[in-house]
Amino acid sequence: MRRAARLFSLKPLLLFGTCSSLLLPRNDYYSSAFLAHNDAPIASAGDAPGHHQKVKGSFLLKTPTELSEAAKAAATFGLEEKQGQNEQVGRLLIALRDKQLGPNVSVFYKQDGGLVITSGKGAFMKDIDGNLHLDCCNNVASVGHAHPAVVKAGQDELANIQTNGRFLNPIQQRYVTKLLATFPPELNTIYLVNSGSEANDLALRIAREHATAKRQKDVIILDSAYHGHTQALVDISPYKWYQAVDGKNYKPDTTHVVSCPDGFRGRYRFGHTEKSAELYAKEVEDIVNSPEGGVGVFIAESIVGCGGQVVPPPTYLKRVYEAVRAKGGVCIADEVQTGFARAGTHFWMFQAHGVVPDIVTVGKPMGNGYPIAAVICRREVAESFARTGIEYFNTYGGNSVGCAIAEAVLDTIHKEDLQQNALEVGEYLTERLNTLIPKYDWVGEVRGVGLFQGIEFVKSRADKDNLQPYPELTKFLVDFLRYQRVIVSRDGPDENVIKVKPPLVFSKENVDQLVTSLDNALQCAQKLGIF
Ligand code: PMP
Repeated sequence: MRRAARLFSLKPLLLFGTCSSLLLPRNDYYSSAFLAHNDAPIASAGDAPGHHQKVKGSFLLKTPTELSEAAKAAATFGLEEKQGQNEQVGRLLIALRDKQLGPNVSVFYKQDGGLVITSGKGAFMKDIDGNLHLDCCNNVASVGHAHPAVVKAGQDELANIQTNGRFLNPIQQRYVTKLLATFPPELNTIYLVNSGSEANDLALRIAREHATAKRQKDVIILDSAYHGHTQALVDISPYKWYQAVDGKNYKPDTTHVVSCPDGFRGRYRFGHTEKSAELYAKEVEDIVNSPEGGVGVFIAESIVGCGGQVVPPPTYLKRVYEAVRAKGGVCIADEVQTGFARAGTHFWMFQAHGVVPDIVTVGKPMGNGYPIAAVICRREVAESFARTGIEYFNTYGGNSVGCAIAEAVLDTIHKEDLQQNALEVGEYLTERLNTLIPKYDWVGEVRGVGLFQGIEFVKSRADKDNLQPYPELTKFLVDFLRYQRVIVSRDGPDENVIKVKPPLVFSKENVDQLVTSLDNALQCAQKLGIF
């Protein structure tokens, strides 16, 4: 009966034409432009001081003519997915997306037919065949997929009204009061927006107005950072520049890149120490203290997500903030990924570094998937922005449906004590992941806090003086885990870091499933003999 219902739901798709006419053979999935991208040489990282070489056009898969190594291995190890409808529908949807969407929009597991997800609950996602997948990558669904309190709050308010933020609505002020209470008292002013990119874009505008530095419009960023998809943000996101294969220099002169403070495989390899902090911070000090003068803005995540879950060494942010402010600069903490109790020890990741930023941007988990985000700043910073005389208006920003949902998310974090859960389960996760280190020379480092962790894979950890990233193995592991129904993502400039950033309702049992599956995947990789 349920199967029949699912088939019925596919009808509109099938009306596009017969499946067979749309389901292209695997080797036709990729346009020649895509292949040209993948054949392009690896360009240098511009004048960024990083040592990494980002895999070019990395969202485009390299060997489209056949299934991934992991899919083939999974089959030989008896793990082949009973594909059911996913096999057919996944390839149909991919074929349609390839025609309908811009060619640089990516899909998870594209090489193996994608994964058609139809619902979710807690830390699990259900695919079209009814299989449950453990979700270790969705920091957005922070209180768990389809949390009933969040769904109800949205449905109820949507049934009332959804209107322009210039009308008054008590929900907004009720929510903002609760949200601001989670910040240090200096951070007392908010702008409500709809996405992390909007938040960072606005934060840049605000910061540039408040800064008194000689190079007021300039920005200092960390190598490999990602801050969003608008033009102003791509200008400060080396993560994006490194994907480019067109030979253009995407780094504007106003952007100053300093090394990502990675004590393991970064420019200075002194671990998580004061020495690392000092050396990395010196790069910022050198820029702001140069004869050209101070720089208007410094922006960073308090754990660098897209940079490969890099945890800045202790005192790094303190030193940097001090140096930037001394020359009239403004410090922004991008908490879009790391915020809302994920750190476990603190509600906001910057608090773990003992700093109070001038501006904080938040998003992703704020609405558990509903688009709502915010810029939170000091009053005097907002006043500088207001002095321009330009009104700030945002059609959907702060709408009552978004605020009702965000309020339900925040209430749920408190009610279910999810910060404490992130702390306890996060500690257990670190402990369990660390058991893999003595077993596999490939596991370079386990790092992160709470439910924001990363596992970096190298060719040989024993080869201390010549640590080489192992992206091929990392891709294999991510793809292989999918066949054990565990979903993780990989990132970092060398794409050799598995990121673990699950919904905050993740349990110790979920950790066991993840680590056991990863252990199995590593054993299979060893048995295959290709790594
Ligand atoms: N900042 C960081 C650190 C992010 O990771 C992202 C998204 N991955 C953004 C900003 C942009 O957020 P959005 O995709 O909601 O625009």
